[in-house]
Amino acid sequence: MVSPILVLAESSGGKVLALSLEALAMGRKAARESGTSLAVLVCGKGVLTAANELLCYGADKVLAVDNDLLADLHPDLLCAAVSQACDIIKPGALFMAETLAALDLAPRLAARLKTGCASDCVDVSFSRDTGGFIFTKPVYSGNVMAQFALAGEPVVATFRARAAEAPEPGAMSGRVENLDVSLVPSLARYEVVEKVSIDATGGPRLESADKIVSGGRGMGGPEGFAVLAELAKALGGAVGASRPPCDLGWISPVHQVGITGAIVAPSLYIATGISGSTQHVAGMAGARVIVAINNNQDANIFKIADFGIVGDWEKIVPALTRAAAEIAG
Ligand SMILES: Cc1cc2nc3c(=O)[nH]c(=O)nc-3n(C[C@H](O)[C@H](O)[C@H](O)COP(=O)(O)OP(=O)(O)OC[C@H]3O[C@@H](n4cnc5c(N)ncnc54)[C@H](O)[C@@H]3O)c2cc1C
Repeated sequence: MVSPILVLAESSGGKVLALSLEALAMGRKAARESGTSLAVLVCGKGVLTAANELLCYGADKVLAVDNDLLADLHPDLLCAAVSQACDIIKPGALFMAETLAALDLAPRLAARLKTGCASDCVDVSFSRDTGGFIFTKPVYSGNVMAQFALAGEPVVATFRARAAEAPEPGAMSGRVENLDVSLVPSLARYEVVEKVSIDATGGPRLESADKIVSGGRGMGGPEGFAVLAELAKALGGAVGASRPPCDLGWISPVHQVGITGAIVAPSLYIATGISGSTQHVAGMAGARVIVAINNNQDANIFKIADFGIVGDWEKIVPALTRAAAEIAG
């Protein structure tokens, strides 16, 4: 029998991240195809509420590492905790959502476990020929879908947002098992001196937002982004940006979408004053519905848009905000 699949779930404020539930759905698919079991692990300080929530999502086991030293989810300590958990559980594959924490953790873990790692995957399947998993991920700015088989056990993979639908919660089953791992402060090779909130808009996180209103160089300055933030708020979405506004300091780089920013796949993406370079499109082409607002009717962005509005954003965005606010009541 294939070794179990382990999904590492992240939580915030006692709630499991929606992105982790999507990774759990990938874990369920991989477990079903390979005929193995599925375990979910949650690590941190005070994570038992989140661990209990995970009992509703059909995993065979929910495991928790609840340790004061994981309060800040320090990468060195988290890596030590998860690798010790792997020594105990002996999974064949370890899945996680493509979050900022996972981008740091996944390659560290794979290096420590001396196994292969695939980041930004959009699918996984089980190969009866090799008895291993095949991971699919976009390469060359999303122009090619490549398939990878990884060496070692457990193979480590992170999954792009919206690669799978998060499962609906069902009846709670089983109970949370606490895993004992041995952590000491000296494992942390650097110290957390300050925590700074990077999301000044107060909206949802870019990677998990269902609606994103993005602005490009055509916004003309930071004031343009304040107008976009109003529309994002009316839609209950997040603000995104192409690279130039981030480089120019109009908005924080955490909002950047694209090959060197966040890869997003919301149900609605509104690209405003964005020309549609391959580097930007690589980060948002997975959106279900793309709306482009641009005053140049030949802009590339219209080639991939489902709906295009040719005109000046200064007239269009406030009108959309009013309409969205009216619909929301
Ligand atoms: C290695 C590398 C990595 C990169 N990574 C990324 C990345 O991750 N993300 C990213 O976005 N870019 C990235 N870039 C940059 C990318 O190549 C483009 O330069 C960038 O995406 C262009 O941004 P833009 O569309 O906002 O600006 P522009 O190309 O300048 O387009 C501005 C658009 O605004 C329109 N406009 C102007 N005024 C108005 C108005 N009043 N109303 C409506 N429309 C208006 C114009 O018609 C134009 O189409 C990368 C580049 C390199 C070399």
